[in-house]
Amino acid sequence: MPAIILDGTRIAHDIRNEVAAEVKAMAAAGVRPGLAVVLVGHNPASEIYVRGKGKACEEVGIYSEKLTPPESATTAELLALIENLNHRDEIDGILVQLPLPVQVDAKKVLLAVDPAKDVDGFHPMNVGFLSTQRPGLVPCTPAGIMEILKRSQIPIAGREAVVVGRSDIVGKPVAMLLTNANATVTICHSKTCDLPGVCRRADILVAAIGRAGMIKQDFVKPGATVIDVGMNTVTDAAEFRRLFVGNARREEAFRKRGSVLIGDVHPEVAEIAGAITPVPGGVGPLTIAMLMFNTVKAARMRRGSGVPEPARA
Ligand code: NAP
Repeated sequence: MPAIILDGTRIAHDIRNEVAAEVKAMAAAGVRPGLAVVLVGHNPASEIYVRGKGKACEEVGIYSEKLTPPESATTAELLALIENLNHRDEIDGILVQLPLPVQVDAKKVLLAVDPAKDVDGFHPMNVGFLSTQRPGLVPCTPAGIMEILKRSQIPIAGREAVVVGRSDIVGKPVAMLLTNANATVTICHSKTCDLPGVCRRADILVAAIGRAGMIKQDFVKPGATVIDVGMNTVTDAAEFRRLFVGNARREEAFRKRGSVLIGDVHPEVAEIAGAITPVPGGVGPLTIAMLMFNTVKAARMRRGSGVPEPARA
């Protein structure tokens, strides 16, 4: 039986509607959450991401501000800019769009963001809060993965979860969130022995690798839930055929655009998984939705009791 498709676009839409309702309630109490996005230089991909974030803010009613220092910006200049944002009361969230130019010490800049405004959840203070189960800001993509699982009624407690990838942005925080939700978690990486064998233990398999179609059927226990975080652009025709042989819809898209977006999970996995996130339309849409959620959460945590509580089921 083919896998249930976990519709990230729909779940992200629901979360954005919930956030919009919360923003409206906050506005009635005289509070408007604000997000500042720092975009250094002219990286075309970053410009697209930042535009998407600005549009999402507008849709849910969050105040947003884009700061655009030049490509030549120094670490000291960015530190001064962050310091200023840290002190501005109407700014609840600060997001520094990565990558930063080579001359900038990115770690130093990220460390300068006030942890209370760190809506990316990358600051070591928030990493510590997550690992010790204290309230804090959780990285957006991993938080989005948990929303997909919970809102799709996928059982987590007591299940075997395997996360392939150990980045600070996805792999490690999602492993921590799954641990906190009482899964038994294994983290794999490029030095893991018998990766297919370890992955086959998983009731929940999260692939956050960055390698097109690497997770094949022999990595997956039949009936498992597979979360595909990968976003890989395939432009090579032979590579495309390896992944999508006989898929008329994808062939048409490849002919038109000369590229397709594919996850880390091979399309053949959908034939044996119990449930699977598609690419595109799976984890991707959750990232911006959770950024909106985090901005409202930061506003609520910073501004305390003056803000009405959300009506949640
Ligand atoms: P990353 O920092 O490059 O980390 C990749 C991880 O995969 C590393 O831990 C690496 O192991 C592991 N890995 C690489 N090759 C492997 C192999 N052959 N076998 C086993 N493990 C291997 O990447 P990332 O930032 O976590 O992103 C992962 C993917 O998710 C990318 O495709 C990215 O575009 C996508 N992504 C999507 C979203 C979204 O919104 N949907 C957000 C963020 C990222 P080592 O540690 O041993 O090197």
